[in-house]
Amino acid sequence: MEKTKIYVLRTGEVRVSPYLPFGGDDCSIIKASGITTPKSKWIWLPVFSFLIEHPKGLILFDTGWHRDMSPDGVFDKKAQIKSLGSWFLYQINQGRIVKGEAIDEQLASLGIRPVDIDYVLISHLDCDHANGLSQVKDARHILVSKAEMDGTTRKSFLIRIRFQKRWWEGVDLKTFEWNGTEGPVGKSYDVLGDGSLVMVNIPGHSEGLCALKIKNDEGKYVLLFADGGYATKSWRDMITSGITLDKKLQRQSLQWIREQSMSPDCLASLATHDTDVQPHVIEL
Ligand SMILES: [Zn+2]
Repeated sequence: MEKTKIYVLRTGEVRVSPYLPFGGDDCSIIKASGITTPKSKWIWLPVFSFLIEHPKGLILFDTGWHRDMSPDGVFDKKAQIKSLGSWFLYQINQGRIVKGEAIDEQLASLGIRPVDIDYVLISHLDCDHANGLSQVKDARHILVSKAEMDGTTRKSFLIRIRFQKRWWEGVDLKTFEWNGTEGPVGKSYDVLGDGSLVMVNIPGHSEGLCALKIKNDEGKYVLLFADGGYATKSWRDMITSGITLDKKLQRQSLQWIREQSMSPDCLASLATHDTDVQPHVIEL
């Protein structure tokens, strides 16, 4: 069978307090937010999106930052607050995206138009994953889990800051229900119906957060675990992130990521924000 190619694309960077990605089990949401940490101690992390050239079509996993976060390709506070739609959210995470890194710009350089994309799959609806959605709004199917969308409507101050509907306004973003039982909580969605592309619910960081498992005919796979952990060291050393909705579930999900990543069938296991990862192409 034809091979699947996975392009690891850097779609900007995000600046956060070091406790947000690696705060551990006892980290409070206040500490994770960075309010109590001087900006000089904050860290820049990459924001990866993944283009998958699958024998059955073109698939994009997450979209990274929108160009309007950095209209001139440099750090722009005013533009960020406008793009994020929240001054509070800007206080918790900031972003920048140099020229040529926005997802539509990278697709164009590969000779791909958004209308050529069969599926845009969104791991979860945090800003650094969904803010760039409108740049690929002409894709054929744009999907997020129903659990994730439902989670954005909870009546809590934090949820209202965290998820801004403006990022998917005017985008035909549809939801999917679980149709499988893979993963740490037995909830998954087989995108193509042949088991080769499965969105696996790894809740904790957010309710409907999904990893994407891409499998070939021989049972080998690549795992893209989004924000289920922030780096390889997250699952290797079992370091949960500081930002979470449910710490117990987050740990359960990280344990699953660890088991999956250590399997001899796993060819690669990648987080969205690992500083040790560089843009590259994986063949499966
Ligand atoms: Zn993220």
